[in-house]
Amino acid sequence: MAWRSSGTSNAELVANLCRNGMIKDDRVKAAFLKVDRAHYAPSSPYNDSPQSIGHAATISAPHMHATAAEHLLSSLQPPADSSSSGPNRPRRVLDIGSGSGYLTHVLAELLPPPSSTPEDGNGPAAVVGLEHIPALKEMGERNMSRSEEGRALLASGRVRFRVGDGRKGWVEPGEEEAGWDAIHVGASAVEVHDELIQQLRSPGRMFIPVDDEDGGGGQHIWAVDKDAQGVVTRKRLFGVRYVPLTDAPKAK
Ligand code: SAH
Repeated sequence: MAWRSSGTSNAELVANLCRNGMIKDDRVKAAFLKVDRAHYAPSSPYNDSPQSIGHAATISAPHMHATAAEHLLSSLQPPADSSSSGPNRPRRVLDIGSGSGYLTHVLAELLPPPSSTPEDGNGPAAVVGLEHIPALKEMGERNMSRSEEGRALLASGRVRFRVGDGRKGWVEPGEEEAGWDAIHVGASAVEVHDELIQQLRSPGRMFIPVDDEDGGGGQHIWAVDKDAQGVVTRKRLFGVRYVPLTDAPKAK
């Protein structure tokens, strides 16, 4: 199913992702319809396959973006009703290896409107896209500036792109204690780095591709959950192929 969702327009791609069960939730569907992949993929934007974006990076395939959004949704949205025990606070999201900036934008579209969430003293709702290659950080910003919605997200600070080594996570200046409700990692890690788990809020969820321990070159997506009491559980989900999380290339 994964590779069969290609379309000739953004709407057709999204319809096919829904038909093939890659997008299940209407809120994810709405967010995918709001963000035109053509602003982020240099060629064949509506093909359900990864595309090169230069610097040895790729924009991931639409079905992988859909799967990531579906898995992180519960950490991005307020509790469904007031009797539920989940927190209602401004959501903070870290997208490590943001590359094209596509998923960074989709994740921002999945946050509730600012007026609907009470302040909790830990800063406003935000999605931070983190890249270790400055040219890709700038590419993410440039791509997002192609739409009016994207420009508004950047201007308001609701989306911010930063340069740093994602293996250490990211701490926003002035928001040192805040942590992240959701962490998405867009490149494969050799391990689930402790810094990332420490920076997860309680509750919070991380979606991360990790190299298999057997050294055979395989990778699996892991969902790492921190519950309201701070207890961490890890679940191995399915096999994938991502580019690795690495040291930044040396400046020439
Ligand atoms: N989510 C992106 C995926 C880009 S590919 C998209 O769909 O467009 C993976 C990205 O991880 C690349 O852009 C690469 O530059 C970045 N990356 C690799 N190692 C990194 C590190 N240590 N810290 C931050 N970003 C890293």
